[in-house]
Amino acid sequence: MLRVYRNLFWFFKQEWKKYLIMFFLLIILSFLAIFPANILGTIIDLIASGSMKTHEFWVYVILLILFAVIRYGSNYAYHFMINREGQQLSYELRKKYLNKLFSLDAKVYEKYTKGELISRISNDMQHITTAATTLLQELVYNGSLLIFTVGAMVITISWRLTVASVTIMPIAFFILMRILNHMRKYYKTHRVIYSAMTEKVLESIEGVKVVRAYVQEDTDYANLEKALLTDIKSWRKIVKFESIFGPLFDLVYSLCYFIAFAYGTYLVINQDISVGNLITFTTYLGMLYAPIISLSNVFNAVNNAIISNDRYNEILNEEAEVKDDEHSKHIIDFDTIEFRNVSFKYPFDKHNVINNISFTIKKGETIGIVGPTGAGKSTIIRQLLREFNVTQGDIYIDGEPIESFKVEDLRNLVGYVPQSHILFRRGVDENILVGNPDAPMEEVQRAITFADFQKDLPYLSEGLHTIVGESGTTLSGGQKQRLSIARAMVRNPEILILDDSLSAVDAETESTIIRNLKEYRKGKTNIIVAHRFSAIREADQILVISEGRIIEKGTHEELLKLNGWYRRQYDKQNMEK
Ligand code: ADP
Repeated sequence: MLRVYRNLFWFFKQEWKKYLIMFFLLIILSFLAIFPANILGTIIDLIASGSMKTHEFWVYVILLILFAVIRYGSNYAYHFMINREGQQLSYELRKKYLNKLFSLDAKVYEKYTKGELISRISNDMQHITTAATTLLQELVYNGSLLIFTVGAMVITISWRLTVASVTIMPIAFFILMRILNHMRKYYKTHRVIYSAMTEKVLESIEGVKVVRAYVQEDTDYANLEKALLTDIKSWRKIVKFESIFGPLFDLVYSLCYFIAFAYGTYLVINQDISVGNLITFTTYLGMLYAPIISLSNVFNAVNNAIISNDRYNEILNEEAEVKDDEHSKHIIDFDTIEFRNVSFKYPFDKHNVINNISFTIKKGETIGIVGPTGAGKSTIIRQLLREFNVTQGDIYIDGEPIESFKVEDLRNLVGYVPQSHILFRRGVDENILVGNPDAPMEEVQRAITFADFQKDLPYLSEGLHTIVGESGTTLSGGQKQRLSIARAMVRNPEILILDDSLSAVDAETESTIIRNLKEYRKGKTNIIVAHRFSAIREADQILVISEGRIIEKGTHEELLKLNGWYRRQYDKQNMEK
């Protein structure tokens, strides 16, 4: 519990004045709650004894109205403030979380699924906000209401009656809470089940097209239903257990009432207390129920908040392995990049995906990379983006380890066109400008011409301003690729990486782009991963990758002469043509 508040300390420190005001408002609210019952008892006694005077009656009425008005005012002020604080906290927690997510490296995105990351910022964050708002309110308001009410029972009525009727309440409550707490260990498991369900729903929505294309709606729906059912079953388990608690406590409460009435009547008969006192007392007893039940829910919510707090902080405590330090150097250009015996294993994999890769890229060269699917081509070139640290070996830029340069600078050197194209639900132009938001229109035009995307514009309803659907659904595969190429080109990068980016374009478009490479990219470096040999045959150096190793290296002519994998595949492609 304290852990949650310790983690939120920064917020309370920032907002302490408002929290202090809210604290006093709650105390006023709970303090005023005890007076009406007392006034009622006094009125009854005055009426019963026949000594009630008219002006006295009006004083009591005005007092009751006054209390009601002050309570309303305090209530209004409190709720207004607490809701604002809740929103403020959600906003700041979200900001922190998203900032953290953006600062983390690819490893974290391998470790957590999208569903997990989303449920932490939605469901879990909600529980944390509740801890900082509703929970505090319940603790302060109900706690003080309990103290004031029991205090009023003892001081204004009878301590003996109070001890006799109220003592069993905390004892029963304590025992029941212990049983309930035992069950709450299960809450954490439930949270994992909930995340899995969120992930499944996300996957189904994202993959709806593929599912439909393969007429797999029923299977997918069955899987989805299974995830939903697992979630609801797990939830029912919790609800079942919690439902036992309510009626049991009602039973204890009825017993308290019985004792209060029996012993209270005895005290009235003995003239220890008045009838008005007994009515006030039973009204007070009734007032204890709501705070006790609320406090039991507080424990429930606290438990939720603790789990959520841990889950939220798990992400906040993640540390990027790939990051700058105070010695990181700027880099805006380079002469050579050397891979020296580089091996790499994905963080949660067992085996290396690439092994002992050594080659050198000179500024201005075009490097071709070919090889079977899954050979490790993307993995090799993506090392330049520093998504992960290499497992073994080194990459040097102008003789210095790649780790000694600022990560952002390195990424700024590169224009990367990935195999799968991520397009945003924005205009085509805005999607291109993601590559360089400050690019002037001429640069955008130049990039479009380079990518041979010009020819697509007449087919787009609003030209450059056409909104691209989610994941680029309004564009064809080739158009998406060309748009992605334009996005990379708009930053006129030192190194352009086309990672199998010409696979969905026709041979003619491919040759236009390859021709443009020569014209537009004089003095700049290009790395082209391709399946079609026509895309790389003019490269200064071609690497043939198989099972994570370089098996052949050279120019097109040199490789043909080697009579190896390259030659065989080249001949095969020519025959197919
Ligand atoms: P290529 O570009 O030659 O098709 P990749 O470099 O994409 O090959 O993949 C090489 C191998 O690494 C494949 O076996 C692939 O399954 C695996 N791989 C790719 N990405 C990941 C990842 N994020 N985590 C684990 N394994 C991966």
